[in-house]
Amino acid sequence: MTEMAMLYDSSVCTACKGCQVACKVWNELPSPLVKNSQEWSGSLQNPADVNDTTRMIITFNEADNDKRWGIDWTFGRRSCMHCTNAGCVDVCPTGCLSHDEHGFVVADDDKCIGCQYCRSACPFDIPRHTGVGLDGMGIKLNKCTMCSDRVENGREPACVSTCQPGALLFGTREEMLAKAAEKVAKLKERGYADASVYGAEEVGGTHIIHVLHRGLDRYELPENPQVHGMIETENLMKTLTAVGAVGVVAGLGLSFATGIGYRRDEQRYDEASHDVIDVDTGEIVKHIDKEAGER
Ligand code: SF4
Ligand code: SF4
Ligand code: SF4
Repeated sequence: MTEMAMLYDSSVCTACKGCQVACKVWNELPSPLVKNSQEWSGSLQNPADVNDTTRMIITFNEADNDKRWGIDWTFGRRSCMHCTNAGCVDVCPTGCLSHDEHGFVVADDDKCIGCQYCRSACPFDIPRHTGVGLDGMGIKLNKCTMCSDRVENGREPACVSTCQPGALLFGTREEMLAKAAEKVAKLKERGYADASVYGAEEVGGTHIIHVLHRGLDRYELPENPQVHGMIETENLMKTLTAVGAVGVVAGLGLSFATGIGYRRDEQRYDEASHDVIDVDTGEIVKHIDKEAGER
């Protein structure tokens, strides 16, 4: 199946937050007012971060300037990046998280036990959970699923389909990377010297690609995100264990085969006399009396 991706272009985004609303609506996620007021950060970024009912946010980076409004905004997108080397998938002990055929990281809610290992392993600090710490009932993992239920039916993700200025696009990963490179080249021509593509190589390549028209420090994206060394070691150990297991099985098989061969080569059973005879010396090793047993 073709590898797909979403492209977010920060130079086109108007921060209308239509995508945030569309995500809530399509995924039937509530928007509790009390939570937003508690998390008020003094910024138009609202809520301040992804949470147990919010899968993606538009980030607002605000710097002073001497222009009319006195604020120089840079908008970004924060959500699951759908990594190729996905630490969350690697550490999940129940198989709740997995890659689908397009390369997206999807979740089977029923399998989530709320351990939150996935969040610890995520270099973007993304997965959130509801119901954790109560009675274990109703635990749900909350992160972007790339609207796999829509994509499976030939539709774009809800956030993409609602974006009026076209800051969000959806297509094959190859197409999205080509568009991103083209856009960055144009931005540089227009004087955005720090313009870059984010997600082409990071953590094995992500399935949400960002066009950043400003320096990385204006966005809530880590420089050089890494899967934790322990997880890579664990993966290596799994591989080695698998190789080791194959070696042990092969060794056992060889020993078994050799053992059988040794007995077959050295001794033979004579059906007429019921004797077991040493092949090399011709001596009777033992006689099998069918009624009385061996002697
Ligand atoms: S809908 Fe489009 S323009 Fe509006 S905030 Fe989302 S990405 Fe930006
Ligand atoms: S961003 Fe985090 S939650 Fe999403 S696929 Fe990558 S590691 Fe997993
Ligand atoms: S792809 Fe779907 S789940 Fe992910 S942020 Fe967009 S609307 Fe939400």
